[in-house]
Amino acid sequence: MKILVINSGSSSIKYKCFEMPEGHVLASGLCEKIGEPTGRLTRHVGDRDTVTEREFPDHSAALEAVLAGLTGEGGVFERLDEIGGVGHRVVHGGEAYSGSVLIDDDVIAAVRDNIPLAPLHNPPNLLGLEVGRKLLPGVPQVGVFDTAFHQNMPASAYLYALPYELYQEHRVRRYGFHGTSHAYVSKRAARMLGKQPEDLRIITCHLGNGASIAAIKGGRSVDTSMGFTPLEGLVMGTRPGDMDAAIVLFLQDHLGMSAKDVGTLLNKKSGLLGLTGRTNDMREIEAAAANGDERARLAIEVYCHRVKKHIGASTAVLGGVDALVFTAGVGENSSLIRKTCVEGLEALGFTMDLTRNETAPRGVETDVAAADSRVRILVIPTDEEVAIAEETYAVIQK
Ligand code: ADP
Repeated sequence: MKILVINSGSSSIKYKCFEMPEGHVLASGLCEKIGEPTGRLTRHVGDRDTVTEREFPDHSAALEAVLAGLTGEGGVFERLDEIGGVGHRVVHGGEAYSGSVLIDDDVIAAVRDNIPLAPLHNPPNLLGLEVGRKLLPGVPQVGVFDTAFHQNMPASAYLYALPYELYQEHRVRRYGFHGTSHAYVSKRAARMLGKQPEDLRIITCHLGNGASIAAIKGGRSVDTSMGFTPLEGLVMGTRPGDMDAAIVLFLQDHLGMSAKDVGTLLNKKSGLLGLTGRTNDMREIEAAAANGDERARLAIEVYCHRVKKHIGASTAVLGGVDALVFTAGVGENSSLIRKTCVEGLEALGFTMDLTRNETAPRGVETDVAAADSRVRILVIPTDEEVAIAEETYAVIQK
């Protein structure tokens, strides 16, 4: 069955088409700058890239062009009705969904209802759902939520110690994000170890531009570092992660910043970018630190200290750990960051084989723990698209 996976952003639609259940990629691509005169559709099929530059006035026009590219000249199949299902990435499912679901009017309403919780992400995701239904009527469409995997967390992990009415009336609580990635790599980890997820306690570190950590017990997320929004937890490319909430009051009361200014500072100007003052790209930061740049060195120290603290917290929550997983851009590729994050954790059972870590091949699932480490330390490439395709296929089969 051909499954089309769509990630609809504010000005772009990313897509990947799979043959399922095999998981073979048939085609992928990106339509960007939607609504601008300089729109661009890039399509990859096999090792061939095709670029079309023209205006795509809205998401509907963009998806129409994506679909035409799949079936037209140089496409990968003949007719659109060969698509057996569409999987949509949706950032916020609120408390309504703890798994993936077939899209119907109620799901659309729920995604709309959650816009206040994810004002940047849910509106373009919603657009993707709507144009998907419009252009492929009769094709089952499935919503795969970033928050769903974390919906089984106990109240002790998801409640903030704020007046309870804020939770009851305004749904202020920890939701957690990157759920598709945490779920996917934890399943891969179980497979690598030849065990069932039900029998394992796993900590997954998704270290990309956004970053979060999840404590997973018996295949379920029991705690995670991101919170009400993706601002909380680890240090990220441009977000600070954990900080004293009073800093926000200080910025407003003493520096006269508006709520909007503070939002921009916290979402776009902090994290690695804020600390280094020039970049959020970990490759550049590592190179600068190696050349003696003090701020770059400090940024790496702060970043790794925070990951280490959250590994410790997750270990406590799980009551012991079988495997620690590193994934996403930084986690998969940076041996320095992996090494620094677990340095000194030997007493808790995490002992790395420094040579294996250093020589871990790119894009391959690798165990970098020392032979006598109590905890396996795994590097596992994440693949959110294939995870969405698998979810979509499973929901349709049901
Ligand atoms: P996103 O969250 O946008 O999907 P990615 O998972 O692609 O991000 O991660 C992006 C981050 O990965 C960037 O900070 C980039 O610098 C970092 N990265 C990629 N390759 C390397 C590498 N070889 N060494 C260190 N960092 C890397």
